Amino acid sequence: MVKDLEWLKQCIPLLEYLQRHNWRPCRAGSRQEFIGLCPLHQETRPSFYVNAAKNLFYCHGCGRGGDLIRFVQLFLDLPFRQSVAHLEQQLMPAPASQLLEQTVALYQLQLHRHPEATRYLEQRGLRDPAVIEELGIGYAPGGNLRRHLTAQGYSLELLLDAGLINNHGRDTFCRRVIFPCREHDQIVNLYGRTIGTAFPHRLLPRSKGGLFAWESVSRFSNVILVEGLFDLAVLWQAGFRNTTCAIGTQLTPAHLVQLSDQPGRSVYIVFDQDENQAGQRAAHQLVPRLETAGVAARIVRLPAGHDPNSYFLAGATAADFTHCLEQARPL
Ligand SMILES: [Zn+2]
Repeated sequence: MVKDLEWLKQCIPLLEYLQRHNWRPCRAGSRQEFIGLCPLHQETRPSFYVNAAKNLFYCHGCGRGGDLIRFVQLFLDLPFRQSVAHLEQQLMPAPASQLLEQTVALYQLQLHRHPEATRYLEQRGLRDPAVIEELGIGYAPGGNLRRHLTAQGYSLELLLDAGLINNHGRDTFCRRVIFPCREHDQIVNLYGRTIGTAFPHRLLPRSKGGLFAWESVSRFSNVILVEGLFDLAVLWQAGFRNTTCAIGTQLTPAHLVQLSDQPGRSVYIVFDQDENQAGQRAAHQLVPRLETAGVAARIVRLPAGHDPNSYFLAGATAADFTHCLEQARPL
């Protein structure tokens, strides 16, 4: 294990990993030392040091430091084992990514064969076949994935490693609507929303990747940030293609780096207007983090009890939603 970790860190040098995630050193010190803004906390004066020879980082601002794996843990908010898995996946993206592509292709086919799935999408107000297709939405009925994938030559071990089946050989996703999460044209995770009574949300045990559909949303200078993928889907359907989602209300430092990749960007946060105020609390905590990252943030208020999905289901139009966006003021 330890030997493997050393090998992993040699294969993906820390500096290279940072640069792949848009980190740019402002200046170089002596002996392979690079200094820049810390990707882990918001700052205006560079205090993040990378020693390329030792493959280590240290931030004098937030006091955190370590090796590549430690960095991934902090940057993507992942536990140790999942950080290692994330890095391994970067080294051998081909089989794992192909496996997920095949899985999604099967789930997409199943969507049209299972009326309970299309009925569920209709209930959530999602009708436009073009949007369903574009988002790659599928359906996991359960009970057929293992046979389908092993028949194509994928090993049981790979399926287990990917988290697609559990230790009993059963499908992880069962009776769930599936959204593939893509990053740089590769599927990095799958989000499954139950149509039954199981726990609503499920992801594979790996990084959920960057902001959803960021490749297409990043060209906009005004961006709408929602909590859930059904919120995103109904907003896309209503023409708001500048909508993205971090699947939940917690944004990682990596998400903040994405949102600040264009100067002068405004982010409209439209989290759930739920009774326990969790969405609103998260929105208020997010605003200062965005502003220190140079992003103008506004909190959008929907009528009480609504999220974007339920708002449209209740009959709201694109004009109504635009009105809510216009009412949003900076804090
Ligand atoms: Zn820092």
